[in-house]
Amino acid sequence: MTTKEGRPHKCKYCDSTRIIPGVNGSPSEDELYTLKLQDKIALLGCFELVKGSAIWSCADCGEWVQDEAYLYDESNSELVQAYEDAVKNAFDNLEVLNEAEMRKLNGFRFLRSYSREYLNDGFFELEKTAKSFLIKTSDGAKHEFVSNSLIPIDYFGMMDDYLGEEGTKEFEVRINKEACVAVATRVAPGKIQVKRK
Ligand SMILES: [Zn+2]
Repeated sequence: MTTKEGRPHKCKYCDSTRIIPGVNGSPSEDELYTLKLQDKIALLGCFELVKGSAIWSCADCGEWVQDEAYLYDESNSELVQAYEDAVKNAFDNLEVLNEAEMRKLNGFRFLRSYSREYLNDGFFELEKTAKSFLIKTSDGAKHEFVSNSLIPIDYFGMMDDYLGEEGTKEFEVRINKEACVAVATRVAPGKIQVKRK
């Protein structure tokens, strides 16, 4: 039996074909958090799956698949099977990461998400400030990154860790439904520039 119909082929927002299952739970659970960092699952929060729940998410833009055909429905065996297989597959392939690897992966995810938002015009810069960091876009606009966490989190440090000693990394990012390559470079201490390749 094919499960082709149970799993969406691509994201309608960004055209990515990396569709991943959403799993119940909290990011404080280590396994779930690791799988989420690796783009293998998305987190649904602590809700029970009911008919109509969105269960598929896009690994590239984070949007949930809302097409009715792919919303949870116990009576749709093809969908449930595809979903359960995808969740099982994610857990079966769990790669445990150490703290340094987690930091780098987090740093990469921040750079990728800012790139999705600010790389439209070709480049942007991130500059460390005493409290967090500034995002400067190519048109000169500045956005201060504000953490909604009470605990100061070292986002800039994670991005810096990701760039490593060599101070530069290339990664893929989808912008306007197109797969692009971005190049992030530490151009000075506390300053990262991201360009479209
Ligand atoms: Zn998407």
